[in-house]
Parts: sequence; structure tokens; C-alpha cells
Amino acid sequence: MKIILMLVASLIISSPALAAEQATAWDQQAPGYYRMMLGKLRITAVSDGTVTVPLNTLLTNISPEKLQQTMARDAMTPQAETSINAYVIDDGKKRILVDTGAGELFGHNGGHLVTNLAAAGYPAESIDVVLLTHIHADHSGGVSLAGKPAFPKAKVYVDKRDVDFWLNPANVRRVEASQAHTFAESEHTLRPVISAGLLRTFLAPAMLPGGIQAESTAGHTPGSVLYRVESEGQTLVLWGDIIHAKAVQMPEPEVAIHFDVNQKQAIATREKILKQAADEGYWVAAAHIAFPGLGHVQHEGKAYRWVPGNYTTQLGH
Ligand SMILES: [Zn+2]
Repeated sequence: MKIILMLVASLIISSPALAAEQATAWDQQAPGYYRMMLGKLRITAVSDGTVTVPLNTLLTNISPEKLQQTMARDAMTPQAETSINAYVIDDGKKRILVDTGAGELFGHNGGHLVTNLAAAGYPAESIDVVLLTHIHADHSGGVSLAGKPAFPKAKVYVDKRDVDFWLNPANVRRVEASQAHTFAESEHTLRPVISAGLLRTFLAPAMLPGGIQAESTAGHTPGSVLYRVESEGQTLVLWGDIIHAKAVQMPEPEVAIHFDVNQKQAIATREKILKQAADEGYWVAAAHIAFPGLGHVQHEGKAYRWVPGNYTTQLGH
């Protein structure tokens, strides 16, 4: 019996089909989603992928030498592989998705959100509401796929200031030339949602479905917002693009990025929100901090440090 089993096992191991399957499995990371409870709410972080960002050409207010040193403290280089994270808030009645990843705009680096959502038990058609932190390729790009709304039943909420800004090509003179592509991308990805009658705009501060509070974080874009959600005394703030490069912008919040429409305002907003996060001690869901991007901010001297959430399998039910 033992010999037969060994024989069968060796046949399976040498099978070309299995070898192909193993190679495929190694092409992608697992599992692509991560759960935590916030009071009674089920929170699922969902990965859209990662993109390597050349911080040496994108960050401002930092010398090349200082950038190199600062990244080295996190064992990284200025060519920073950066997570694109989205989040589901599930209260048992509504499934609310915050941000939609890059969709088709980043090639294979992004666009994995829908697959990972389905693996987490949330097929695209099960999403009731989409909340966008702002309009930018890696947050709103996945709101449509192949010219159709990616979440066919979901109403899509976004601050009106971002819709007015990015869907009006006349504003191209208000951004750096390197960011001009955002106008065409926004038109391409938001228009199918508008045509389907699914877009809803608000002006932060505003109360949104699920009792979620939107607060303005203008600067990065005119209509950038954070979303604050609470349950049983616990608070989670989903902050969009307060931080692009954690290794640099936590110790040096005055470092900005060329993606910022108004860098000066973006820096002031970052300083305000980092202080608030450290003072209040709430949970943070960060779009571009290493997946799952769930953790806390703490004061460190005059600056800040990121404390990743402790891994849990204890979900309380
Ligand atoms: Zn952005």
C-alpha cells in the first residue's frame, strides 16, 4: 500500500500539468485580502496590486541623498514598490467599497481588485455603494471596466469638487504637465458611471450611507476626502492619499509629490491629519502603505511613525 501511494505521489509530482499549476501559483501573491472587525463592522482590506513608483523623480522638498538615506531606514530604495489598497465596510446590510484600484489603467500592476474582492466573498455585483476618496487613476480607475460600471448595482459617491475639476479639460492649465493625462483617464473611467445614472456627488463635510462621515482633505486634489466610520466606540479613518511614501512622509510630512494639485495645501493637510490620527489613536486604512495598510499613527518627536496592525485570525465569531 505504502509503495503504491509513493508511486502515485511521484507520478503526481512529475505531472507537467501540476508543474504548470505551480508556476502559475507563483506568479501571484496570496491571499489578496485581509479581515478585521471594527466593533460590529466587518472590514476587509482588498489588494488591487502594487506599482513601482520612482520617488526620486516624484517627491519634492527632499534632496536625492536624504531620500536615499530615508528609504534605507526602511530597507528600501527610491524605486518603491507601492501597494494599492481598497477596503470593504460591511455592516451586514450594505457592502460599501472605499476606492476601486486602477482598473485597466496600470496594466498588470493594478486591476486585481475585482478578483480579490470575489475571493473575499464580495463579487462585483454584491457591492451596494462605492465611496471614492478622490479621482485619480489608482483610486477611481477601477470604477469602470471595458467602458461599463465595474460595480453594476453600486451608487458611486465622490466630492463634487473633484468631479468639477477632473471632468473639465479647461483645468489642465492648473496642473503640472506630467499630470495632464488624469483628465482623459477621469473622463474615460467616470463617464460610464455618469451615463448609467450611478454617480452621486456631495460636498464634504457630509454624512454618507452607512453613517460614514466624509471630511475634506483638499490639497492632493480639490475634492480629496477621508472617510470616518465608527462602531461600538472604535473608529477607522480611510484616508486616501494622505501618505504616498510612508518611509519618507511620516518622519518628514513636508515632503510632497508631483501628483498633488496644490502641494502647499497637501502638506498642511498631511500635517493636520497625522497629528489628528496620533492624538485620537484611531485605526487608519491607508491606500498606499504596505498591504493591508491597516494600523495606527504615533507621535515620534516632532514627526510620526506608522505602527502596522497586529495580524489577527480572531474575528470574534
Ligand atoms: Zn491620488
